[in-house]
Amino acid sequence: MWDGLYGPVEVRRVQPYEAHKEYICPGCHRTIAKGTGHVVCVPRDAPDLRRHWHKGCWERRG
Ligand SMILES: [Zn+2]
Repeated sequence: MWDGLYGPVEVRRVQPYEAHKEYICPGCHRTIAKGTGHVVCVPRDAPDLRRHWHKGCWERRG
């Protein structure tokens, strides 16, 4: 889904002060700690499948 299966993926920056929860990064399956800047990736045609990624994992995916 991250390379066009559900349309273009919108990538939004999440600033540290906006990160109020922990997430599991699909790239490395590790935790993104609260208060860590990261990115949220939203397939245009399947916004329910949005996922939070470490910025570096997103850039290195695939
Ligand atoms: Zn990661």
